[in-house]
Amino acid sequence: MAAAKNIVMKFGGTSVQDSTSIENVINIVKKQKAGKIVVVSAVARGTNSLEQIARFSADNKVKDARKLLDELIARHYAILEILVTDRGLKKNAIDKISNYNNKIEELISGLSIIGDLSLRTLDSFRVFGELMSSTVIFYSMISRGLNVELIDSRDIIKSDNEFSRAYPDFSLSQKNFNSKILPLLKKGKCILAQGFIASTVDGISTTMGRESSDFSAAIYGVLANADEIQIWTDVDGVLTADPNIIKGTFKLSEISFAEMEELSNFGAKVLHKNSIKPAYRKNIPIRVLNSKNTKSSGTVIYSELKFHQLIKSVTYNKNIIVLRLKPRENLNQFIFWEMLINTLAKHKPQIDIIISSNNAVLIVIAENNYTKIHYDDLKNEIENFAQFNLIKDKTLITLVGSDLNSINDFEKRVFCCLPKIKPDSIVFGYNRHSFSILLDVKQTENVLKQLHNEFFESHKAENKLFKLIK
Ligand code: ASP
Ligand code: MG
Repeated sequence: MAAAKNIVMKFGGTSVQDSTSIENVINIVKKQKAGKIVVVSAVARGTNSLEQIARFSADNKVKDARKLLDELIARHYAILEILVTDRGLKKNAIDKISNYNNKIEELISGLSIIGDLSLRTLDSFRVFGELMSSTVIFYSMISRGLNVELIDSRDIIKSDNEFSRAYPDFSLSQKNFNSKILPLLKKGKCILAQGFIASTVDGISTTMGRESSDFSAAIYGVLANADEIQIWTDVDGVLTADPNIIKGTFKLSEISFAEMEELSNFGAKVLHKNSIKPAYRKNIPIRVLNSKNTKSSGTVIYSELKFHQLIKSVTYNKNIIVLRLKPRENLNQFIFWEMLINTLAKHKPQIDIIISSNNAVLIVIAENNYTKIHYDDLKNEIENFAQFNLIKDKTLITLVGSDLNSINDFEKRVFCCLPKIKPDSIVFGYNRHSFSILLDVKQTENVLKQLHNEFFESHKAENKLFKLIK
């Protein structure tokens, strides 16, 4: 059994981007009385820098790679300079960062010779973002009197070898957690660990997908059987729309796991999509909180569904690719399906929706910048058994809520507020929590605004569930 009461607190890149932010994080952590597992991201934009360093190296632009690395390292030293005053501690911290610096330099030299950037090599660069941020946060926490232990998540979370989007093995990870972390928690130690990173059984570094520190927090939540998983970010909680596009969004006080899963799947950035299932399975509430506005109560995501027949949020994904496939004439339809499924399983595109009618198929794929699949290979293979048509520049806009099919006039309201649009397709989600519209990407902003106005602003959504964000 885990210690009496445990919570996981995850802080994202903007929450740990500089000394002021980290000091703020430490204050938040100190206020929490329960047993704590603190999960941290790399400093803001740190992972992007490491990816760029890797690309420069593979292109043999060693000077550019080193320059970017110097800047990244300097950000960590700057934090130490302000937050760690004790000379002995500071020396230890600087040694650790300089050691990481040397390792990255070795990677740069090696990759510049080989010139081939695989997803595995990319992961070996990426892990340093979290390793370095957690190191400076660790020494800063010690300086502020926290009884804290730094853990290397690669020693705890064991994953498969799908580099760049690795998936954990929960039972192996549980064993590591029980032997390495539980005893520390029992001693009253605060645990500090990196999000995003894991390793294979053979100890090769992996990462679990961009923005997946939320997922790491959920994994630790499950392993610790935590009472709550807190995701500390830079917005007040789960909102009715992306505040970068819509002014006058509302914050939700709560949302069910099932709805949140749809929201994350269809593009909402606030919580990584893989985080929900493990927490749902173990019934551990996730609370999204703002580290820059600790007065806000955030949004709680849990298994209850209290507000029925209601639209909760509208989200979008602009990086949509659509495959239109029609089986070759005289090909038996079941052979077509079998070949199609086999090909998709091999190339592993991130499929959002499959629609089929009259035997032909439309596959809606959420393109991911970091694990791009090779469409030429896919095309060649599919053309053996089907006509292949790839359509780019599409957007998928999704309304998420509960029992959408029983909301009065729902479809009428959607299309009356969007008189000018011509969707390519519309689809209700499997559990009636989502309604997606496939459109040309240039219509994204306009459609989002109209839908948000129709379902939230014009109806003064503010009530127990919705709170206007000022
Ligand atoms: N640092 C990683 C990223 O930028 C993971 C995370 O922040 O969640 O994608
Ligand atoms: Mg995030």
